[in-house]
Amino acid sequence: MRRPHIRSLAVAVAVTTTATGLAGTALAAPATGTGAGTASTSPASVVGAAVAVAFAHASATGLAPGDELHARDVLIDPEGARHVRFIRTHRGMPVLGGDMVVHLTRNLTYAGVTRAADHTVKTVATARLTARQAEQKAAAVAKGDAGGARLVVDARDGSSALAYQVRVSDSDTTESGGSRTVVIDAVTGSVRSNAPDQDEFLSPRLLDTLRRRGETISPAVGTAPRSASSIVGSSIAGSSASAVSSAAVTAGRYPATAFGTGTSLFVGKVPLVTTRTAATTYVLKDPSRWGTETRDAKGAELEVFGQGKQFTTTNDSWGNGAVSSRTTAAVDAQYGITKTLDFYKKTFGRKGIENNSKGARAMVHFGNKVGNAFWDPYCDCMLYGDGDGSVIKKPLVVLDVTGHELTHGVVDATAGLEPTRYDNLGNQYGEPGSLNESLADVFGSNVEFSANNANNPPNYLIGEKLGLSQKFLRRLDKPSLDTMERTIDYWSPAVYDTEVHAGSGVSSHAYYLLAEGSGKKTIGGVTYDSPTYDGLPVTGIGRTKATAIYYRALTRYMVSTTDFHDARVATLKAAKDLYGADSAEYKAVDRSWAAVNVTAANTPAARN
Ligand SMILES: [Zn+2]
Repeated sequence: MRRPHIRSLAVAVAVTTTATGLAGTALAAPATGTGAGTASTSPASVVGAAVAVAFAHASATGLAPGDELHARDVLIDPEGARHVRFIRTHRGMPVLGGDMVVHLTRNLTYAGVTRAADHTVKTVATARLTARQAEQKAAAVAKGDAGGARLVVDARDGSSALAYQVRVSDSDTTESGGSRTVVIDAVTGSVRSNAPDQDEFLSPRLLDTLRRRGETISPAVGTAPRSASSIVGSSIAGSSASAVSSAAVTAGRYPATAFGTGTSLFVGKVPLVTTRTAATTYVLKDPSRWGTETRDAKGAELEVFGQGKQFTTTNDSWGNGAVSSRTTAAVDAQYGITKTLDFYKKTFGRKGIENNSKGARAMVHFGNKVGNAFWDPYCDCMLYGDGDGSVIKKPLVVLDVTGHELTHGVVDATAGLEPTRYDNLGNQYGEPGSLNESLADVFGSNVEFSANNANNPPNYLIGEKLGLSQKFLRRLDKPSLDTMERTIDYWSPAVYDTEVHAGSGVSSHAYYLLAEGSGKKTIGGVTYDSPTYDGLPVTGIGRTKATAIYYRALTRYMVSTTDFHDARVATLKAAKDLYGADSAEYKAVDRSWAAVNVTAANTPAARN
């Protein structure tokens, strides 16, 4: 995962007030009259009311003179509650770690706040460094080209430090290049954070482990392809492929929606919705999913999607199932992205990664011998390398990798969970970062269940197609079966400073227990045996309900600093919203966290 501060604020200033609800709770859904009135259904009035009550309840929200709130998201629940996610500026400067969600009743009165910990911003000092000095320091630290420095208030550690935030591009500090965001204290000149911007699927620590063990990642390529005739045109319910295509041909109007077939690297033949731009020209761009598109980075480290080369064919047939065709990896990428978008849309009514009805984008063949896949918020796209030829043998375009990475994009657009610490290699540490990795695995796994492709059977394993000797990268039922990243099963105070992929096991395990329960179980041919910390059994409530609870918690009750105990509270609130405080579902959420040693009783004292 990565640090989205700069971009988050850029988005925030534009104030997009989109809904992020479960299916049927979209912003457009009107309140059903009685007592609500039009005021409570207009996003602008909801935002205005939320700002007013947030300042009126300053002791709870931590707002101080000089603060200003900027809405990022407005959610209107059909059952009445309204939630507005804000980022904050102080005297015009963005506050890092100043985010909060203000909760309102149907009648727009104050119902509570979920905020990043203890972030009342106090009067800040005067800068001693110039912007130029901060840029030079950032360039030296991140070994690259510094962009312009801007003043921010860094409240992430509970202080109110005046600081410069600098984006450094072409950083030499990571294997795949890319950019970093450096925060320099404007008074002392110390480096407050130096974080990779890209979100690498394989962490530097894991790559090191692979090398030490002499292991390679060489995903098994596709199983027997199904016949094309059984799948073409199946991706949009109710649409007739031939009818749409022939109508466009008859009319001679382009661009037109077309229905092609891809021959992928990992999942055999797949249907692809494409764009026909001329009688014999098709582009790998999906008009039915807001123009979702995959392009060719041509072996360069492109971070600008517009500079990528479009994939085109003359017959709407894509790839050949092998890397001999440059298009093959693009088929897997486009398939994985569209399946991820479909999961979020059909399960939660979410319209795209940022819920703004914009397509997702990807570039394959990124860089020279890059053995990784990334979510890049500056590109606003997925980037896939071709493998380094030694440790990583193939492009990482498998489905759950894409589902995992795009979920980081969803988290960036919602809770914006942030690691608490970074090392010089780009490894990340801490509970909010671990929770981010966990949610990416939880929803990435759900993307597989949603796609339900016989050539990529769904399960609670992550990276099971990567060809690793342990047969998976991570797994949700008993995370400690992973010995590569040494993922953990249970919470302890040490998790606060654990590497984020290793730490992800705490909430991934809690989610699995909530969905499926403890003990031995065989699901879809995979055997699971999920243990509990206290030795007591957990009865699952099913994947559908567990996933609804986690998504609601992510979009309404989590912020950038949410740790595992906060996540417990967030999922309990979500379960209460959806099923009631006396429900079996609510009790199961509580049990699932106790089973990974996260309880009300062992909640750490505030760290700030
Ligand atoms: Zn990740």
